[in-house]
Amino acid sequence: MTNRYENLLKPLHLGFTSLKNRVVMGSMHTGLEDRFYNYPKLAAYFEERAKGGVGLIITGGISPNRQGWLLPAGGTMSNIADVAPHRLVTHAVHKHGAKILLQILHAGRYGYQPFVVSSSPIKSPISPFKPRQMSEKQILATIDDYAHTAHIAKKAGYDGVEIMGSEGYLLNQFLSRHVNQRSDRWGGDIQNRMRFAVDIVKAVREKVGEKFIICFRLSMLDLVHDGNTMEEVIIVAQALEKAGVTLLNTGIGWHEARIPTIVTSVPRAAFADYSAEVKKHVAIPVIASNRINMPDTAEAILAAGKADMIQMARPFLADAFWVNKTATNRVDEINTCIACNQACLDHTFKNQRATCLVNPRAAYETELLYLKTKKPKKIAVVGGGVAGMSAATVAASRGHKVTLFEASHEIGGQFNLAKVVPGKEEFHETIRYFKVQIEKTGVELRLNTKVNREQLEREGFDEVIVATGVVPRSLKITGSDAPQVLSYAEVLRGAPVGHKVAVIGAGGIGFDVSEFLLKPEHQPQPQPLADWQREWGIDPNPNYCSEGGMQAAQLEAPVREIYLLQRKTTPVGAGLGKTSGWVHRAQLKKHAVKMLRGVQYKSVSNEGLWIEMDGHDQLLRVDTIVVCAGQESIKEIMPAKDENTLANYHIIGGAKLAAELDAKRAIREGAELAAKL
Ligand code: NAP
Ligand code: SF4
Repeated sequence: MTNRYENLLKPLHLGFTSLKNRVVMGSMHTGLEDRFYNYPKLAAYFEERAKGGVGLIITGGISPNRQGWLLPAGGTMSNIADVAPHRLVTHAVHKHGAKILLQILHAGRYGYQPFVVSSSPIKSPISPFKPRQMSEKQILATIDDYAHTAHIAKKAGYDGVEIMGSEGYLLNQFLSRHVNQRSDRWGGDIQNRMRFAVDIVKAVREKVGEKFIICFRLSMLDLVHDGNTMEEVIIVAQALEKAGVTLLNTGIGWHEARIPTIVTSVPRAAFADYSAEVKKHVAIPVIASNRINMPDTAEAILAAGKADMIQMARPFLADAFWVNKTATNRVDEINTCIACNQACLDHTFKNQRATCLVNPRAAYETELLYLKTKKPKKIAVVGGGVAGMSAATVAASRGHKVTLFEASHEIGGQFNLAKVVPGKEEFHETIRYFKVQIEKTGVELRLNTKVNREQLEREGFDEVIVATGVVPRSLKITGSDAPQVLSYAEVLRGAPVGHKVAVIGAGGIGFDVSEFLLKPEHQPQPQPLADWQREWGIDPNPNYCSEGGMQAAQLEAPVREIYLLQRKTTPVGAGLGKTSGWVHRAQLKKHAVKMLRGVQYKSVSNEGLWIEMDGHDQLLRVDTIVVCAGQESIKEIMPAKDENTLANYHIIGGAKLAAELDAKRAIREGAELAAKL
């Protein structure tokens, strides 16, 4: 059978070894790599991805020494005793014909621990610890540590190592003037600044020999002040090639950069042209990265000759079988990473195990099992939002006979609202994925069906899963029944909104609605790359001469004047996700949204919204008030505790708990329940 993704599926020959296709599962810290007793789980996690067809896997970052820890007692490979647990991983991956590299990551001043070191003693804005400046002796010892770690990695069966040189970690801290203010032979011009990285590559190559992959992840766009220019990036790339690097991977933006590089609103493949620029100047294969999540995007980059391989990290949490589905023309079955960060990076930052919002099995491969049932049951799922779709499709895939009832004309629930928010277009993909799963697993879908308990009893279901979701909470103050007061659901479904707006409630939805109202109605979605680059101040010239590839941001004037209000006195937006919240806060700030906290809502009148703040009554002269004050559960179908019914009832998602309405919990609850029935 022909396949449209021939470039993606083509092997890559590296002389001494070859990779079966052009797809790289990029490094992603799961939290499992830090403790040796979690290695059986880590091996199962990687094995599933290797089975799913990926050609090359890169592990989460492992430090070459104590100073390089990202977190206290983080994963380190410095001892021969480390070989045994890692062999579990390499063996599991090799069984399926994939190759695996150990990523060596020294966090430098990004370490969240007191031993941190860097090129210069300058504290990072994202860590409380001030680093000590590395002495010549420490630099030379660290070069040896990298070589030693690579040597142990080889003994553990790895096919190579990736040396992490981007995202603002230690080697990047030497490569760029942003942190490197040294005047010795490790600082100054680019020849000096790159000496540390180049000497590490030389030392590693000498230690491991020729037949071992060395991948270097190079920052191709620093996105910080005093960052490198493209000319400097190319000088480094060429020197690394000469020192013995086999593959050159792309890194974009330091973690402290205030320009988004991976969240949902970043256009797909936004940075491929920078990798392409570097590729023109080296002979080794170049890997493109960042916001590539579907085969068409990946194939287009390769077909245009912009890169030799494609790296995706989060998309492999979302779907371990991404490559096999691509290879067998089943792209519509891919569970797409929506770049939300809610269950992966946000977990990592909270020191929790990373997993995936759309795939709760990620990193839980040995714990959450979807086994074929020996006793097929007749199951009703009431509600076609994400909780219901998750429960229905997992139960049906296990062999149960499932009927999914949905009161409206479409499945998707709250995701149908989210998908119209600018920058959240990826949410369409999740609905598409579930639609296809419903068909493939044989779920009987009954749309426009508001089922009641009598009907469920009549049809003789063994189990009933109530996933009826939520309704937006309404505002209960004088005048709140006026026509200018709208719920967020009405607004996102297209209700007319005036030019001056008060948004009540500053949770995730209050922010989403504000962003929705800032943009013109007919703005193309997704946002064109050039507009996005202009808005965030990214130099669009791949051969940029600007520091770190940044230029002054240019903003379109907002189409509305917006107040975003909350009762709490904490900073507005403080409860948003760690890795994406700052993007939303920055976006609203740039567009002059007035964020008020400590507000009491008094009444609505024809003039606007009366509030009390700091003990004073004030009138916000607005023509529309949008209520984003959370939700209330719909659970009317649930029997009372003492009622006898023929079926066994279970409640999940927003219907169970509206206070913490969250797609991550909803999808996981649906899957966990369906795995047990
Ligand atoms: P939310 O985060 O709970 O925010 C609702 C806000 O409304 C509360 O913070 C509360 O703030 C205010 N509120 C509550 N009751 C009120 C009342 N009776 N009168 C006036 N204000 C009231 O809920 P949400 O914004 O609806 O979001 C729901 C869920 O969707 C979230 O938990 C989140 O997981 C998810 N989501 C996430 C994102 C994201 O970008 N990650 C985006 C959208 C949604 P005060 O009490 O301070 O006023
Ligand atoms: Fe992608 Fe969100 Fe899953 Fe992370 S949690 S892998 S960003 S879908």
